[in-house]
Amino acid sequence: MKTQKKIIVIGAGPAGLTAAAKLAEGGCEVTVFEAGKTVGGLARSFELWNQIVDCGPHRFFSNDKIVNDFFKEVVGDDFILINRLTRIYYRKKFYFYPLKAMNVLINIGPIGVIASMWSYVRQRMNPIRNPKTFEDWVVSRFGRKLYNTFFKNYSEKLWGIPCSRIDADWAAQRIKNFSLLEAVKAAIIPDTSGKHKTLVDRFAYPKHGTGMIYQKIKTNIENAGGIVLLNAPVEKVLVENGTAKGIVLKSGETILCDEVISTMPLTLMVKGLNAVPENVKQACDKLFFRNTILVYLEVDATDLFPDQWIYVHNPDVIHGRITNFRNWSPELYGDKKTSILCLEYWCFDEDEIWMKDENYFHELGENELLKTGLIKQEHKVLNCHIEKLRRCYPVYETGYATNVEVIKLHLDTIKNLRVIGRYGAFKYNNQDHSMLMGLLAAKEILQGTHEKLWDINTDSDYHEEGDILNSK
Ligand SMILES: Cc1cc2nc3c(=O)[nH]c(=O)nc-3n(C[C@H](O)[C@H](O)[C@H](O)COP(=O)(O)OP(=O)(O)OC[C@H]3O[C@@H](n4cnc5c(N)ncnc54)[C@H](O)[C@@H]3O)c2cc1C
Repeated sequence: MKTQKKIIVIGAGPAGLTAAAKLAEGGCEVTVFEAGKTVGGLARSFELWNQIVDCGPHRFFSNDKIVNDFFKEVVGDDFILINRLTRIYYRKKFYFYPLKAMNVLINIGPIGVIASMWSYVRQRMNPIRNPKTFEDWVVSRFGRKLYNTFFKNYSEKLWGIPCSRIDADWAAQRIKNFSLLEAVKAAIIPDTSGKHKTLVDRFAYPKHGTGMIYQKIKTNIENAGGIVLLNAPVEKVLVENGTAKGIVLKSGETILCDEVISTMPLTLMVKGLNAVPENVKQACDKLFFRNTILVYLEVDATDLFPDQWIYVHNPDVIHGRITNFRNWSPELYGDKKTSILCLEYWCFDEDEIWMKDENYFHELGENELLKTGLIKQEHKVLNCHIEKLRRCYPVYETGYATNVEVIKLHLDTIKNLRVIGRYGAFKYNNQDHSMLMGLLAAKEILQGTHEKLWDINTDSDYHEEGDILNSK
């Protein structure tokens, strides 16, 4: 008699939970082991000063029908559509993002516009063939002037390395479909088709925070007979004779299974395996991650600024983005008369700032907000809370893909082990990409298909298109 397949999923973020939900629904015996005290990973929500906050801004957006159907299946009608308002702050000026012609014109002035257009035209006449770095990729498409204004500072703050060392893949993934001419056209000619608004200017947001999605998925897993264990960090994956056989927990306990899905950091997982070849270990050592410190400040005002988030390009402040949770869903703040802002500081493990405490960030954050003018002297910062997110950005340094390929080839030799997710597969994923990886990993196990998991978030035309409003 055939017994149920026993599956272990490492990590209860969007990727792991999505896979677990589909597998439990499909009749497998699933257990999720999560190191943290809650589900949702980087997309969790939590209560702070009697309000709800996320880990920085979390808009849900996908043009993939499978993902939108899954979102609707989980969230139902418990979400709102938010009209996106986000700006770039640069040299004491705010630029709407997506760009608006009049606003850009006023901010950089007619001479600045002519200089940008000239720099763009000159670059188009001498394009950089086959750009390998982020800098070359952006300069070749937009010209050096626009690169300096809108791309350089922010990218270097985020990644902590010069743009000449950032791989062109990041640009290709993130701004592949952004055409300067289209942006200028969209800025000048109002859109009447409705399509632009649905796909770009509005996004879905669960009423009680993005983490609500993952609380609901956890319930679905449990209702289907699966188990989600919190505070259960995994030490390593057990492999025998080229086949994954189970896991060893940090507590020392060994648990056997038929298949393992890992969403823990790729490099840590691989280095923990038995008999890893030297070249694979070296490839792991060459890949690295960037950390984020989220600094939450409670301010005694309700109308500080209207944006959901602002990209802070200015080099004279260290934070790179600021979220205002007052401008998401009213359910987040209820009847509270304060606003919670979240400033993002990016760094590496060895940077001094990584070790700093709440008092340090309270002062730094407040001073930086005063400097950018987003709060005024009369505002009071009532509270500060920090969250440190380790390894939350896989760094696409030039050549990283070669190292990922070495690791991938090694993993291809191990049966019944799948790696998915943001740090799990070393991909700069949003929630939708991680969900898609989870859905397809489950499909592989349930239906025996081969789904090219490594290609997700590389090939944007992988599936049939669809948007959230037209999903079931
Ligand atoms: C500041 C910020 C803003 C973002 N904004 C957006 C946005 O606007 N829209 C969007 O869609 N996405 C956004 N994202 C990305 C989104 O959060 C991620 O894509 C998503 O959470 C990735 O899901 P995942 O499951 O792949 O990984 P994670 O969310 O990282 O989950 C991995 C899980 O594995 C667990 N784990 C790790 N190691 C172990 C171990 N050894 N044993 C057991 N468990 C382990 C972790 O605790 C974690 O819960 C943002 C991310 C950040 C940091």
